[in-house]
Order: sequence, then C-alpha cells, then structure tokens
Amino acid sequence: MAKDYYGILGIRRDASADEIKRAYRQLARQFHPDVNADPEAQEKFKEINAAYEVLSDPKKREIVDLGGDPLGPGGSAGAGTGPFVGFQDIMDAFFGNAGPRGPRSRTRAGADAILRLELDLNETAFGTEAPISVDTAVVCQTCSGAGTAPGTHPTSCDTCGGRGEIQSVQRTFLGQVVSSRPCPTCQGYGTVIPNPCAKCGGDGRTRARRNLTVKIPAGVEDGMRIRLAGQGEVGPGGGPAGDLYVEIHERPHDIFSRKGDDLHCRVTVPMTAAALGTRITIKALDSEETVDVRPGTQPGATLRIRGKGVPHLRGSGRGDLHVHLDVRTPTKLTSDEERMLRDFAHVRGEEVAELSRQKGGFFSAIRDAFNGQA
Ligand SMILES: [Zn+2]
Ligand SMILES: [Zn+2]
Repeated sequence: MAKDYYGILGIRRDASADEIKRAYRQLARQFHPDVNADPEAQEKFKEINAAYEVLSDPKKREIVDLGGDPLGPGGSAGAGTGPFVGFQDIMDAFFGNAGPRGPRSRTRAGADAILRLELDLNETAFGTEAPISVDTAVVCQTCSGAGTAPGTHPTSCDTCGGRGEIQSVQRTFLGQVVSSRPCPTCQGYGTVIPNPCAKCGGDGRTRARRNLTVKIPAGVEDGMRIRLAGQGEVGPGGGPAGDLYVEIHERPHDIFSRKGDDLHCRVTVPMTAAALGTRITIKALDSEETVDVRPGTQPGATLRIRGKGVPHLRGSGRGDLHVHLDVRTPTKLTSDEERMLRDFAHVRGEEVAELSRQKGGFFSAIRDAFNGQA
C-alpha cells in the first residue's frame, strides 16, 4: 500500500502548492534535528522530507494521486537519506534570505553582572548607601576598545573577502540551497587584526575593580535585586555595558524575625505578671514601646504594635511588630513561696501532688513518683 504523503504533511488532497510549502515549513520548525533533539523527531522529519519531495513535484504528485508511490516500495528511498539541509538554510530557501548576511560587528553589548550584598535589618528597613566593589570588564585604555595596537588598523579578511562568511551550494530535493557559515579565519568579522593591542589581546576590554556606592531604598527585602543600568561588563570591542544587579541578602537579626514588612519577637513574662497583668517596655527597631500585658494572658499570646515593623517599599506606612509572649514558670521556690502557691491552689480547688523536692530535684522526683516511693 502506498504511503499517505498527504497525511504526513497534514494537508487535504486538493492542497495548493503554497499550502504544501506552508505545511512543510511548519513541520520543519517542529521536527528538524537542528531544533528537536529527539531521535523520533529525526525519523519523523525524514518522512516529512519524503512527503514534501513527492508532493511539491507535480509529476510525482500525479503518481501519488493515481494510487502509486513515486519513491518505490518502502517509501522514502530517495528523500531524507542524505545529510539534512540545515534548518536555517531551509528557512532561507523559503524566504529568499540566502544572500550574504554580512560580517558581524566586533562591537557587541556586554553581559549583565550580579553582585550579592549582605545587609542588616536596620539597613534594609530604613535604607542605606552601601559601598560595593565589582570585578568587571572595562574599556581597554590603550586601544579605546578597538583591539588594535596603537597606530595599526584591522585589515580585510582574505579568506572571505571581507564578507565574514563562506557560502557553499548544496543540491537537494528543495533545489539548490545556498548554505553559509561564518568564516573560520576571521570568525565572521570580515576583518582580521594583524597587530592586536598588547594590553587586551584584541578584545578591546580589560578586567578591573571598580568601587561604587549603591543607594538602598527603605523597605527592601531579602532576595530583591536593584538594577544599576550600564554598570555591568563592557562588551567586546568597547560595546555598551550590561547592567549590574545588586541582590539583597538580609542577615538574620538577634531579636526580630521578618515576615514581609511585619516583624516578630518573643518576650518572656513571669507567671505572676501574666496572671495579674503588667506593663512592659519593648525595644523596637527604632523606638521604645510600652505595652500592657492584660491580666490572664496565656502562653503564646501575641501583642501587636501597629506601624512598628519595616517601612513599606512602595507607598507610605509600615508593617506591624508582633510580640509573642512566653510565660515563665518559676523553677525554684523557697518554702515560703511554695506554701503560698499551695494555699493558692487549695483556694482554687486545683489538685497538686506532693513531690519531694529534697531528693535530687525534679527528675528523680518524677522517677520516685512512678516507682511509688514518693
Ligand atoms: Zn586594548
Ligand atoms: Zn574571513
């Protein structure tokens, strides 16, 4: 049975020459080995090539339409068996871009750079001006980026005649395809530098350490990046510099942990203060705050002090400070204190055990209790 060449290209039997071309181009984009590394895609692309070869040729297409197979039994005997035509060359063949693309410029844009900056909470919260130093590429002072030794100039490349690329004509089922590759002598520049600058070796730039000051706005967060336009690496041949990104890393704080613009801290209050209520003074980031601990406060209760967190980066206002209260139970009691607490428990009808406090402390007391020796 003859192969379904129409089905392979996904077109109707009455498809026009243009539609066949379009279908092939689309499938080449999807399955060409240059753009799709899957081995199955390679097999699929062979079939697509065979289908295109057959259907783009009116004589071969007629044989298909009469129920035959112009490629003989087994299908793709002729097509797709040779080396693949490059993906870009196929696109060029269709769009007529096969002419010279011209030499590429020695001047190219520089790369972006990233720098890590560690800051304390006070600095991220209220902003700062941080000195930074970057190791980066700068324009070569000797040749001003040209890459040539003083008094010399680049000369036209003999291999490619200054075009920067070398063309070869391939005969394929698509017809003649002109394929071009960068000239190996000049790497596509069209010129060679016979006397490179001794300082930069012809690259047009050198490494240097630069010192800058970066302004950190109030309210930045861990992981944020601040962009300094044009402070990255200078490009080859003195090309425009890339950008420098300063990535903020906030050092952990001894007292405060940060969640967004809210701050959290822990404060311990004695059991009696939690029961009776008290007034405590909190050292916030930039102020002292006095807050009331209400009578009957439970362990884990939270006090919120509004507007004492980190300033918002955008807009005005600040986050809140959350004070988490730990309630401390006394670990040692004098006999007077113990008697008072027992009286207190007795008044409230609360059950307490009589664990010995003389025999080696708390743990042995528990052990004794379990062993029934208490
Ligand atoms: Zn130089
Ligand atoms: Zn060349």
